[in-house]
Amino acid sequence: EPAQQTSEQTQALHLLQTVFGYPAFRSQQGQIVDHVVNGGDALVLMPTGGGKSLCYQIPAMIRKGVGIVVSPLIALMQDQVDALEEVGVRAAFLNSTQSFEESQRVERLLRTGEIDLVYIAPERLMTARCLDMLEASPIALFAIDEAHCVSQWGHDFRPEYIKLSVLHERFPSVPRIALTATADQQTRDEIIRCLQLETALQFVSSFDRPNIRYQIVEKANGRKQLLDFINAQHSGDAGIVYCLSRKKVEETAEFLNENGINSLPYHAGMEMTVRSRNQARFLREDGIVMCATIAFGMGIDKPDVRFVAHLDLPKSIEGYYQETGRAGRDGASANAWMAYGLQDVVQQRRMIDESEANEIYKRVQGVKLDAMLSLCETLNCRRMQLLAYFGQTSQPCGNCDTCLIPPTSFDGSVAAQKILSTVYRVDQRFAAGHVIDVLRGIDTERVQQWRHNQLSTFGVGSDKSEAEWRALLRQLIALGLVAVDYENYSSLKLTEQSRAVLRGETKIQLRQYKKAEKATKHKRQS
Ligand code: ADP
Ligand code: ZN
Repeated sequence: EPAQQTSEQTQALHLLQTVFGYPAFRSQQGQIVDHVVNGGDALVLMPTGGGKSLCYQIPAMIRKGVGIVVSPLIALMQDQVDALEEVGVRAAFLNSTQSFEESQRVERLLRTGEIDLVYIAPERLMTARCLDMLEASPIALFAIDEAHCVSQWGHDFRPEYIKLSVLHERFPSVPRIALTATADQQTRDEIIRCLQLETALQFVSSFDRPNIRYQIVEKANGRKQLLDFINAQHSGDAGIVYCLSRKKVEETAEFLNENGINSLPYHAGMEMTVRSRNQARFLREDGIVMCATIAFGMGIDKPDVRFVAHLDLPKSIEGYYQETGRAGRDGASANAWMAYGLQDVVQQRRMIDESEANEIYKRVQGVKLDAMLSLCETLNCRRMQLLAYFGQTSQPCGNCDTCLIPPTSFDGSVAAQKILSTVYRVDQRFAAGHVIDVLRGIDTERVQQWRHNQLSTFGVGSDKSEAEWRALLRQLIALGLVAVDYENYSSLKLTEQSRAVLRGETKIQLRQYKKAEKATKHKRQS
């Protein structure tokens, strides 16, 4: 027997339909709204695009007083407020970008409760003056958006967020709702501890995006592979291509344009006006491919992005998930495509090594990178592995490259031994290129100079091409069986774990890459 709707539930649905124009709540939105309206604390984990905003906007409108939204995304506040005002919700923001008069006006509305929602940057909120003002105002709730920012494990740590525990101490009777799209268990625990949300109800939505097809291909000539992928599966479609550097963003956009694909660049080094113009064109026009650094995408809500491509390896699965999640928001099928190679592993490891950050941070980054690499090299369903990272168990999906064309694996112990013993015999003083030359028995000048043609492993790998050895070496690096010493010309070193493989005590399964593996040419289902 269905429970009777309370008057608050009726009111919430009414606001959803008449103000926001949606017929029904999505997934857990209804339960979350209900819980917060009744004064409960909540921790909401919902993927990007899942509809987190309504979870606090509607309760703020129903409850007495003003809803305070803490958000680090100052650049988006104006847009969020404009969107709310457009549908008739009274909203404003307080941050460092506005004039004194404007912030005075907002504070007056806040004190008298003549406004529904006020967005505040955390550094502003934490000032004694702001907290005093809030204590003198009617507050409906606190929404803490991007709550993963409290976590040092997260990819986006903001020190001000830690101080938000003061909200519970100074406003014990005001409900708090923390929201985030990215939180592995560790981050989740840290949010709960920092924000004192031990008794809050947790609402964890599924992170699965079934309409996205995940594909990770071995990088040969990344740009050319990208072009083939777009021409084969996405001609005329809107898409985003992520690159690591600004230079590569510009080169890739130029390359695509030269090859008949309408493309624009976007990165933080570009002039503000050009950047916003490119963003506006991407949103408004059809079929534009945006080449961008990860600076692009926060708060971008374009439903018909048909593909997201990565020409460089993301730093973490959180980043990969967030970026690929910008594809297929409309629910129609979309592709997440990535080209990845040995150079990516080397480059990401070097960036961590060379960063100025402290040791703990570096270790965390290393663990995150390892998880990303293991997603790239997996022999299993990509989606299963991706969801498992977010604590969700699932079955093979049938809509990723490893499900569609299962990769073959082989006992790579002997090949690994050949690599490891060559690394050892050249005194762990040479980089990948030279080690592979020795393996394949190529008599280069350098080989002769060091008399490496007299080593017992010279030529033991002549049965494989250079590309095959690179793929094997990349997997050994990903598995931690070979280390790269960036301070010494990227020379290869053995690790603790490699000794057992060298001695033949452990066997390892490696992925068999086919020669010149091409992007899988499946037509999109539509
Ligand atoms: P998030 O903050 O989780 O990334 P948003 O709150 O920005 O997501 O919502 C993403 C999109 O989904 C927005 O365009 C929003 O208007 C839309 N949306 C949210 N809830 C619903 C709903 N119940 N029905 C239809 N569309 C919705
Ligand atoms: Zn799969």
